Amino acid sequence: MQFQTIPGQTKLITQFRAMVKNDRLPHAILLMGPKGSAKLPLAIALANYIQCENRNDDVCGTCKSCLKSQKLIHPDIHFCYPVVKKERLKREDTTSKDFLLEFRTFIQNRPFEEIKEWIASITSTTSTANINTKECNEIVQKLGLQSFEGTYKIQIIWMAEYLAKDSNRLLKLIEEPTDDTIIILIAENQEKLLATILSRCQIFNVAKFTDEEINSYLENLNLSPTLNKEKIKQLADGDLEKAIHLTQQSKTDDYSELLMNWMRVSWKGHPQGIFDFVNQMIKSNKEEQKVFYEYGIHFFREYLVYLYTRDVHKMRLSDKERNTALQMIKTIDEEKAQSLSELFNESIHMIDRNINGKILFSANSFQLGRIMKGA
Ligand SMILES: [Zn+2]
Repeated sequence: MQFQTIPGQTKLITQFRAMVKNDRLPHAILLMGPKGSAKLPLAIALANYIQCENRNDDVCGTCKSCLKSQKLIHPDIHFCYPVVKKERLKREDTTSKDFLLEFRTFIQNRPFEEIKEWIASITSTTSTANINTKECNEIVQKLGLQSFEGTYKIQIIWMAEYLAKDSNRLLKLIEEPTDDTIIILIAENQEKLLATILSRCQIFNVAKFTDEEINSYLENLNLSPTLNKEKIKQLADGDLEKAIHLTQQSKTDDYSELLMNWMRVSWKGHPQGIFDFVNQMIKSNKEEQKVFYEYGIHFFREYLVYLYTRDVHKMRLSDKERNTALQMIKTIDEEKAQSLSELFNESIHMIDRNINGKILFSANSFQLGRIMKGA
């Protein structure tokens, strides 16, 4: 991971570069940004840059340090992330190092992926994943030792929201770090962080990707020529990993028709229409089902933009979609549009939890009708 492999983020990267060159690095850094943004790749690129023995505007890529950091095996760059119980280990004894191989593979394949997907890749039950007390104690211990080869020992913590409540020892380290220690915390939700952590770190905000950045990244991937890139950009809404997932889908154009038709039959409570919708949905795979609901969320997000601004051109929708949106004004107000987005969002979680499709899509259709009628 290098600065130049991250789309955009120029301002932040320039700032990091200057801090390293002028030896003015804060010892506790918090990278705060939405899911699908460049927080983790930035943290890794910064750590690699700090350790590079021959750095210029970016890492040299060839020094002893770079050869290790590229493979995520640098002995002075430590990673910590939420994990779950592993096989015969007890939960309280399991820490990041027990999942190190899985982590390296995951990050090398999907660097912009969100934390939820990491957890899903190591377990089917997501509820217990965290960064436990043993791990916090180990971090304190590790950072108390001499560095192996670099000048700095760097600890990356992906994601601070998952720190166990009793991570006090770690707080002390963040408050009074030793000279050769740098802690880089990553987080999405400021409200879920301990105030003590927030007050002790220098916070850097990582913006979500712009449409242009997503576009140029997608240009470099091998996309199917039939794909509607414009639509993908809109659906992804700054989430690069989601954009990559969407490129693997080819049906985004049809979702608009499907959504409108579904709303029509649900509004009328038309049994055959609902039956046809449910049947069409259960024939698609989980990913396609999720993309359909993502589309619904996207549509109503843009619709809400119109309700707030009354400016047709602010809606990132096609002409046809805009017309449909304008026809809804009398029926669907702000509150209903919010409820619909929540319904779609909840449905995505249900699909992730492998709920029976027939039940989900039928229940959804009735719920959709009720929300539209304000019942
Ligand atoms: Zn180097």
